[in-house]
Amino acid sequence: MSSMLRVRGLRKHFGAVEVVKGVDLDVAAGEVVVIIGPSGSGKSTFIRCLNSLEEPSAGEVLIAGGGNAQAGDRKALARLREEVGMVFQDYTLFPHMSVLANMMLAPVKLGRMGKREARDTALALLQRVGLAHKAEDYPAQLSGGQQQRVAIVRALAMKPKLLLFDEPTSALDPETVNEVLNVMKELAAEGMTMVVVTHEMGFAREVADRVVFFDAGRIVESGPPAQLFGAPREARTQQFLGKVMG
Ligand code: ADP
Ligand code: MG
Repeated sequence: MSSMLRVRGLRKHFGAVEVVKGVDLDVAAGEVVVIIGPSGSGKSTFIRCLNSLEEPSAGEVLIAGGGNAQAGDRKALARLREEVGMVFQDYTLFPHMSVLANMMLAPVKLGRMGKREARDTALALLQRVGLAHKAEDYPAQLSGGQQQRVAIVRALAMKPKLLLFDEPTSALDPETVNEVLNVMKELAAEGMTMVVVTHEMGFAREVADRVVFFDAGRIVESGPPAQLFGAPREARTQQFLGKVMG
């Protein structure tokens, strides 16, 4: 399998506090990597560095056929952002814009598409997640699960090479979690390359090619879900899984 994402020696500090302490990660095209780990361990900071929402303090992030962004190279980091889509915990749709306007904004603003094409693309994507009838509505008129499905297809409208998710279901009512996870499963089945931070262990078991356990700014261990959940090697991983799996 060809490599889609290559991360080497990634570090990030805020002031004197180092939050990401030298992370290497390779993600193959079409692979789904799930990152688990305790709160405050640097998972969000790490994946925010992958689309340059945070500027790494050291190291490099390389996307296949695209940006090779080294720490400090701001232009390259900005290009990364266009190639890597991201879905956050709290939807982040613009509240004053219709669903359709939210979807069309980035592709038009960044010159990827004309308005006509952006509109057609947006409607087709909304159709795909069963939300074409919500195109003219404002985000507040949608449920959390619906808003999150819009956030996912809004990211897809930019035709990203890689899609990042940071706890995409953590803010949702329990009954709408699955409608979002199902969209993510479909994307995985279609071959989208994904890095997903989540506490949904069922999703990780079912969908991940590889699960990465992150703690205190480092990858402690990683492996296929059956191995990482069934026979974790490191004491720290065993301890964490013991707590979260009951
Ligand atoms: P996780 O996603 O695993 O919960 P985060 O990456 O959000 O962890 O946070 C890791 C640590 O970095 C936390 O101690 C957090 O307070 C700190 N942190 C995150 N963002 C900032 C920031 N912008 N400035 C200062 N500290 C931050
Ligand atoms: Mg987080």
